[in-house]
Amino acid sequence: MPGANPDCVFCKIVAGEIPALKLLETDQALAFLDIGPLADGHLLLIPKQHFATLSDMPPESVSELTRHLPKLARALQDVAGVGNYNILQNNGRPAGQEVDHVHFHVIPRREGDGLGYRWHPKKYEPGRGEKLREQLVKALDSII
Ligand code: AMP
Repeated sequence: MPGANPDCVFCKIVAGEIPALKLLETDQALAFLDIGPLADGHLLLIPKQHFATLSDMPPESVSELTRHLPKLARALQDVAGVGNYNILQNNGRPAGQEVDHVHFHVIPRREGDGLGYRWHPKKYEPGRGEKLREQLVKALDSII
């Protein structure tokens, strides 16, 4: 695969150099079971081409990759018998990324499974939200 990273474990899976329990494969995408599942059926969807983070990917490649997510989630629902799932995509160490090759986790969820995020919402100080909005809209305008 062009741009493959010889040190990347997921590039090695794409190249067939290390095994994986593959679920779906196209010319651009690969889905396989996570080797350390948080729940039965926990799977990963990756682009075959090496990108470290989602923001490194051209939008067309993201669309091509993510179109597989609904189908994968439905298959998990059929097999794991759970209608609930999280789609998780970590970028960078502080965000929990351990493998620097873009991947989407699809994780089946059950009531009381004990998985979950610490989720402590805060409130913006007056004016802070508006300021951020202004900066973000400007940044968005400058990104092609
Ligand atoms: P993240 O923390 O988002 O980077 O997640 C990396 C995921 O890759 C973890 O859930 C690992 O269990 C999984 N993983 C690492 N190596 C392999 C492998 N050889 N085959 C399948 N999954 C893997």
